[in-house]
Amino acid sequence: MKANIIDGKGIAREIQEDLTREVVALQEKYGIVPGLATVLVGTDPASETYVRMKRKRCAEVGIHSVGHELPADATQEQVEGLVRELNADPTIHGILVQLPLPGHLDEEAVLNAISLQKDVDGFHPVNIGRLAMKGREPLFAPCTPAGIIELIDWTGINIEGKEAVVLGRSNIVGLPVSMLLLARNATITICHSRTRDLAEVCRRGDILVAAVGRAEMVKEDWVKPGAVVIDVGINRVDDETRKRGYRLGGDVAYDEVAEVAGWITPVPGGVGPMTIAMLLQNTVTGAKRAAGLL
Ligand code: NAP
Repeated sequence: MKANIIDGKGIAREIQEDLTREVVALQEKYGIVPGLATVLVGTDPASETYVRMKRKRCAEVGIHSVGHELPADATQEQVEGLVRELNADPTIHGILVQLPLPGHLDEEAVLNAISLQKDVDGFHPVNIGRLAMKGREPLFAPCTPAGIIELIDWTGINIEGKEAVVLGRSNIVGLPVSMLLLARNATITICHSRTRDLAEVCRRGDILVAAVGRAEMVKEDWVKPGAVVIDVGINRVDDETRKRGYRLGGDVAYDEVAEVAGWITPVPGGVGPMTIAMLLQNTVTGAKRAAGLL
């Protein structure tokens, strides 16, 4: 294998250790305890797991977290009412509404209701708008995209001037990571389901971010030799050797791509842990901003 592995798990652990020290210092010097409220609507098992993991990590770094659970048939007014209560709660510095919401709810209106100052997921339309505009800064960048930039920076490779190809244009990953790469002066190409000659377009990338949700779609001959390959995908791949009958795999055919890439993230243990680390970081930033320390 030629590629260097980008150890997202280890990098996230270091960020978490730094945050733990920062949280202790905030409490000792200013009496501030950063607070995160999670809002889970319904009983989707994956969403329940994500929220549980986020709250567990909060506890590890000393962030106070409060979990709110609403039934799957909660009304728009109930969800927005809860968000408004949390907006007004001075002990809460970040509000995370776990997505996706049940289909009958208006996701955009819920995200719109979150105070900009507490939008630690970075999905408020104003924060996304600022992310997309030249010379503007969002108060918070979305967590998975921000974590991807941290991983690329960790390689020591300068993003400026590089060809960056992003495979996927979702609101939560593909689009915002493209905007962050553009803000760092990469030349970006965004691919999606209607892109022609995908392999050829991907091969242009000095940096290739795969966020499609299609197991092992990116093959060896899609990758420019020496490229930084960031695999965001989390897919179930049938595997009879595992007790549960499947394993988690990325959007990149890891073994073969690692033969040509310069750097590569594993799945699991790459982008995933960074997402939570960035959420914790955003919550601490929110607490510092609320106290006038930023
Ligand atoms: P999504 O909303 O389903 O978006 C997928 C994107 O890929 C869309 O833009 C779609 O194009 C494009 N696409 C789908 N099939 C394609 C094909 N055959 N050829 C070219 N483009 C194609 O997914 P997402 O929410 O961005 O998530 C992507 C993956 O990342 C999933 O596996 C998800 O589980 C994972 N994820 C991981 C984390 C983490 O923390 N590690 C966080 C979020 C997501 P169109 O726009 O044209 O439909």
